[in-house]
Amino acid sequence: MKTIAAIATPLAVGGISVIRLSGEEAISLAEQIFQPVSGKKLSQMEGYTAAYGDIISQGNKIDDGVALVYRAPKSYTGENVVEISCHGGLLVSRNVLRAALEAGAAPAQNGEFTKRAFLNGKMGLTQAEAVMDIINAQSDQAVKSAKTAMEGALYQSIRSVCDQLVAVAGHLSAWVDYPEEEIEQVETSHLLESLQQAESQMKELLEHYDVGRIIREGIETAIVGKPNVGKSTLMNLMSGVQKSIVTDIAGTTRDVVEETVDIGGVILRLADTAGIRDTQDVVEQIGVDMAKKRMLHADLVLAMFDCSEELSDQDKQLIEELRGLPVIAVVNKTDLEQKLDTTYLQQHFQRIVFISAKNTDGIDQLKQTIFSMLELEHIDGSSPMIANERQKNCAQQAYQMIQESIATLQAGFTLDAVTVSIESAIESLLELTGERVTDAVVDEVFSHFCVGK
Ligand code: GDP
Repeated sequence: MKTIAAIATPLAVGGISVIRLSGEEAISLAEQIFQPVSGKKLSQMEGYTAAYGDIISQGNKIDDGVALVYRAPKSYTGENVVEISCHGGLLVSRNVLRAALEAGAAPAQNGEFTKRAFLNGKMGLTQAEAVMDIINAQSDQAVKSAKTAMEGALYQSIRSVCDQLVAVAGHLSAWVDYPEEEIEQVETSHLLESLQQAESQMKELLEHYDVGRIIREGIETAIVGKPNVGKSTLMNLMSGVQKSIVTDIAGTTRDVVEETVDIGGVILRLADTAGIRDTQDVVEQIGVDMAKKRMLHADLVLAMFDCSEELSDQDKQLIEELRGLPVIAVVNKTDLEQKLDTTYLQQHFQRIVFISAKNTDGIDQLKQTIFSMLELEHIDGSSPMIANERQKNCAQQAYQMIQESIATLQAGFTLDAVTVSIESAIESLLELTGERVTDAVVDEVFSHFCVGK
């Protein structure tokens, strides 16, 4: 494979930039552009050693810095790697990269370093995917969860299901192929037990997918309610930033304002939406439509009502539209005299929280209710989790095939038919772990990485 080079640090001004080279010729190419002041050559250096020196391009010194040498297979990619740290200027780092390319390196594609690590057996596909999740993580729980995956928790969990299925399939095919031989008679009940165990392991993984997604991406939250119930005030309170315009003229919030808030290690992606009401104003109508759309797709809807007023027809219409959605009813302005009859709300909502956004009463209870509703109280970033749609699709296919094999077995079909389903489940699991995966899938996975990773 050709030796590749890229700037591994962000393309921005900073203290230091790192230009990374990887491939069989990484050290000899780097040697052409880096001269240690000690007079020693990079090719004479051992792995895991560094040298200070001059960075040279076409006979001229363009910067000074440090070269760190890694020797295959003891590097991130499993190949020879040199990392050159130079001054963190945009132009300087580009010049160093250009020097490396002129010396003969090829520009690295997105995620190509990690792809090589995968192809060289340094990490599995799920671990490589976790590398990207760790870069993108926005909360402590997301970091923890990605680290768990990087350490191979999902891989091991899938592997154990797979091993179980392989054992069953092996047993079955031996029995089908050599019925006369003295192979232990296949006990249907024993087989069923193994398959059911695999089924429940896959089911559990799939059930935790949403919690995992929430840990990674945050809880998409819509705050809805008629104008002036206090949506912007609540949002500002939770985010601690004055972002929405708070006024008491109905209809001031015209579009969707988004803000992220960290509540106990989980990110809440709050959208304050235009007050939902019938309006003649065209611009406001667009905001109202966006609010409704956001509401229908949210992980969580905070539906606000004003405690100091009786429920209006508009409130009742909103309540109808909220049917079947993951809602917490938030009754605001508890500091004012209560006119709202809450029995109607109690009939329509499982969860009601009373708050005063003005003087921050009830906010902790609101946070607790969010956690219990989304079953986040026991979130544990250290358990194996499916991390993306690709993995989910493979897991779902495997799960369906395991279910099919159970049904086939219970219906008394031939053991051949059971084997077909089990083998198909194994295929999907091996695709998930990346052990049997097409080049196209591998390319697709790494295309989401940044250059230099
Ligand atoms: P929105 O239209 O739903 O976004 O409502 P706003 O957040 O703009 O609030 C409308 C008005 O209600 C503002 O004057 C707020 O100061 C006031 N308000 C919001 N929350 C409370 C509260 O808990 N108690 C009282 N008394 N007033 C509040």
